[in-house]
Amino acid sequence: MPDVPTIGILALQGSVREHQRAIERCGAVPALVKQAEEIELLDGLIIPGGESTTIAKLMSRAGLTEAIKKAAEGGLAIFGTCAGLILMARETAEGEQGLLGLVDIKVRRNAYGSQTESFEADISIDSLSSKKYRAVFIRAPLVEETGSKVKMLASYQGNPVLLEERRSLVSCFHPELTDDLEIHRHFLKMIEKNKGQVKQKGG
Ligand code: GLN
Repeated sequence: MPDVPTIGILALQGSVREHQRAIERCGAVPALVKQAEEIELLDGLIIPGGESTTIAKLMSRAGLTEAIKKAAEGGLAIFGTCAGLILMARETAEGEQGLLGLVDIKVRRNAYGSQTESFEADISIDSLSSKKYRAVFIRAPLVEETGSKVKMLASYQGNPVLLEERRSLVSCFHPELTDDLEIHRHFLKMIEKNKGQVKQKGG
């Protein structure tokens, strides 16, 4: 029987249902995660968009911050969208240390303006497809600095908006709010590749 991966979606606040639906449409199994123990059972984890300060508070209260950090060190692939990117960043522009510090980037929250200034834009993700990708930005963060190990997969107006570092994937926009499954599929491929490497190491 083929191995169907289980993808956790951090279900504390934000666009949880939309990610759940995207994962289902990709043929993987979504699991809504609210407690630290649930992290161990996953092949990958999505941290959705929403309000990063609220998600951070709820994560810490549930012991999820430490559990996610530990799982990431142990090899768990994690995909953060918008607020999720902020939580996975090394540092914020205000000089605060990022909550999870999984991706070597410095981010400025709400840099593209308020809710009313949310917008859609066509971007190119050359490594995934030759088609244009319609990206939805909602109170999006701006990535101001990237470390040398961070791979930029797409940019908008010269700033990176989709990035990857080892087993972490982050986007400034919301791939779960469009019908295009390209980026969720890419995350599933990252997990597959990661599993192969873990197996090889284990012999
Ligand atoms: N501006 C929000 C924050 O700081 C993120 C917005 C979003 O996830 N759409 O958390």
